[in-house]
Amino acid sequence: MRRNSDEIAKMRKAGKVVAEIKDRTREMVKPGITTLDLDKVSREVLEKRSAKSNFLNYHGFPATICTSPNSMIVHGIPGSYRLEEGDIISIDCGAIVDGYHGDSAFTVGVGTISKVAQHLISVTERSLMAAIDVMFEGNRIHDIGRVVQSIVEAEGFSVVREYVGHGIGTSMHEAPSVPNYWPGNAGPKLKVGNVLAVEPMVNVGGSETVTLEDGWSVVTADGSLSAHFEHTIAILESGPEVLTI
Ligand code: MG
Ligand code: MG
Repeated sequence: MRRNSDEIAKMRKAGKVVAEIKDRTREMVKPGITTLDLDKVSREVLEKRSAKSNFLNYHGFPATICTSPNSMIVHGIPGSYRLEEGDIISIDCGAIVDGYHGDSAFTVGVGTISKVAQHLISVTERSLMAAIDVMFEGNRIHDIGRVVQSIVEAEGFSVVREYVGHGIGTSMHEAPSVPNYWPGNAGPKLKVGNVLAVEPMVNVGGSETVTLEDGWSVVTADGSLSAHFEHTIAILESGPEVLTI
């Protein structure tokens, strides 16, 4: 799908709301708060900005953000879990403005975290930013995953395969899929007007995942730590524009 400049302007607005949710939730992260407290703040921002949640009621999801601590990779449900000193937590945020979607996630430490946790977070974020740098018209969709994988594996970490990035626009999840690894071919060309949510999920140990009994929470099969960063990015003639900052 190629979006025109009016559509991208709307997606910019949605992206700004998502960025505000990220900023507000990030400020709150400290030992003792619950993941439900983070969801409350997200709901406040959505209401203040007259935006809708794209996560709430998505296939029955009960909250406006996903909160995934430690070995949880993605899709954690906010609830009574209290953040503890030394945890890391991924917070995945979204918003709909004028029918257009934004989607973005970050991972942050709670108080003082281990060296490996710090390294995991920084490598995962770096892999996303390096991937964005190749999002020019004429490059290929799978150049994104090639860049992510090369950075992540050079540090001895692994890239999750079962969950991938996606096109985004009038739905949260649109074609094409955007894997975070090289799937064996280059895929379609990137074109001006494409808007993609790129979201590396990176594990300290193996790449295998398990879904918990709640039907949502995805964790690492080996219990190792996992980090997740995501931005919604528009490809313009001038190059990539990150909409969710
Ligand atoms: Mg997301
Ligand atoms: Mg996404």
